[in-house]
Amino acid sequence: MAEEQAKVVTIPEFLTVRQLAALMDVSPIDIIKELMNAGLMVNINQQIDFDTAAIVAQEMGFEAQPETAPQVEEEAEVTTPFKQRFITGEAPEDLVPRPPVVTILGHVDHGKTKLLDAIRHTNVADSEAGGITQHIGAYQITHQGKKITFLDTPGHEAFTAMRARGAQGADIAVLVVAADDGVMPQTIEAIAHARAARVPIIVALNKIDKPNANPDLVKQQLADAGLTVDEWGGDVICVPVSAKYKTNIDELLENILLVSEVAELRANPNRPAMGTVVEGRLDKSKGPMATILVQNGTLRVGDAVVIGEIYGRVRAMLNDKGKRVREAPPSMPVVIFGLSDVPTAGEILEVVENERTARMIASRRAAERQEAATLPAKTFTLDDLYEQLQSGQVKELNLIIKADVQGSIEPIVTSLQKLGDENLQVNILHQATGHITESDIMLAVASRAIVIGFNVTVDPAARRMAEREGVDVRVYDIIYRLIDDVDKALKGLLEPVYRDVVTGHAEVRAVFRVPHAGKVAGVYVTDGEIARNSLARVRRGDEVIYDGRVTSLKRFTEDVKEVKAGFECGVGLENFNDYQEGDIIEAYRKERVS
Ligand code: GDP
Repeated sequence: MAEEQAKVVTIPEFLTVRQLAALMDVSPIDIIKELMNAGLMVNINQQIDFDTAAIVAQEMGFEAQPETAPQVEEEAEVTTPFKQRFITGEAPEDLVPRPPVVTILGHVDHGKTKLLDAIRHTNVADSEAGGITQHIGAYQITHQGKKITFLDTPGHEAFTAMRARGAQGADIAVLVVAADDGVMPQTIEAIAHARAARVPIIVALNKIDKPNANPDLVKQQLADAGLTVDEWGGDVICVPVSAKYKTNIDELLENILLVSEVAELRANPNRPAMGTVVEGRLDKSKGPMATILVQNGTLRVGDAVVIGEIYGRVRAMLNDKGKRVREAPPSMPVVIFGLSDVPTAGEILEVVENERTARMIASRRAAERQEAATLPAKTFTLDDLYEQLQSGQVKELNLIIKADVQGSIEPIVTSLQKLGDENLQVNILHQATGHITESDIMLAVASRAIVIGFNVTVDPAARRMAEREGVDVRVYDIIYRLIDDVDKALKGLLEPVYRDVVTGHAEVRAVFRVPHAGKVAGVYVTDGEIARNSLARVRRGDEVIYDGRVTSLKRFTEDVKEVKAGFECGVGLENFNDYQEGDIIEAYRKERVS
């Protein structure tokens, strides 16, 4: 920071409120207050440009001076719900209604795809007719003169994957339930996912054409699952439809418009666009293509964009009929060309000033990711719950409960709910029987939740995802312990738990006697690495016959710090001499589960 008499502060082209506060050595709150006085609602991680920052700085007694080279600053943290994040900072008079974005959820084979097709084919606006239907991951229809956007990758997995990456997947969820099959496990899961996203649900009671359709039974099952339909005094709209015969589709669309009006969906079309990647792919001749759902602003041909670590300039845009368009207002899905690589669904697109800035932001992010790659991702854990409670970062504890039988869920949920008080609510996002799956982990990532299992196992893929994403998964076999842990976590009394992270394996190929040092093993490192002082186990067949630490590590006669996969070395373990050829030495470290 430049500390001259007139308190000059050098400000880059763009920076976050937090960074500006650091530069001026003032509280970010004061800056937010200044911006509020100027009519701008911003959060601490939001980017502001030089001009805005300069005005604030001046108000606070600084002289602002632009940094010569345009500098790329840290991206905003993607924690605020998408809907708000993109329109925070907009003056209310700039906001206009935007079409709703709808996702279709439900159990497999209940007719999600069929319903998406039925809606698409019955409602192509006349002016747009004639274009060839393109599957770009989302489409827009017009009903009673109003537009509705549908995401056409059905299922809560896609929806939650987007949320896990920080995007608000949709504004409204249509829950498809087959009237001849009723509420099924994925129906329950879908309800949990939509609820966790705080997205209103409309039930489409599908397949009413079937002779064995039993709408009343389904409504009863829905009520049991916590969704009471309006005709039964609840607040959930339920529309009986047949996707096969295109029955009642209009009524469903009308209700979507109704719910969207209540939700007051707004955006500012007169600003640079921000949007979400719906899907990305590589076209052999046209290069990387991405379907973007514009969430705020208007995206135009020629705009410089950055998506995560990808940058580019929008060379051309196509709508969902395959027609070229020059601009895309809020809620419109478009395919764009001109990116440096293929982005992933759920990534956020931002329009920036020019391609050079886009490229700089992208490469900065890539460098940061490489730096961060060695650290495990962290979301939210029971261990630091207390800290987060104290600092006001969380006010509710989101839990996902999986248990072996329905009979164990009830006592667990009842006991857990008793633990909350006026300062903290224990919020059970999802409760179900069965193993812990990737879908549970994804929901946990998207909702900053903890996954608690009772007498269940964790699917290997779910375990990997949890490790990658830093999700706290805890499995218990005694209800008392489960409740006690959560209770302790709430009171800040939970002892940290450590888990073993295997760092490498080596196979014993020979055993040597070393004078004064007992025996050492001549080994071949098969994967990872073996480090001196690392913790290590010896596995013989299925058995672990030793657990201790590596005390010596030699390559030929040299002492070395570590040996990587593909090399041979000599290993000595603390107080262990009983090596046999074929033993596996497993090196590991203890890592705090957090
Ligand atoms: P998804 O797995 O939820 O996407 O289900 P699909 O859309 O693939 O539909 C599953 C099966 O149910 C297909 O054979 C559809 O033809 C059938 N189906 C879907 N909707 C209806 C309907 O309204 N009536 C009848 N009779 N069959 C339907």
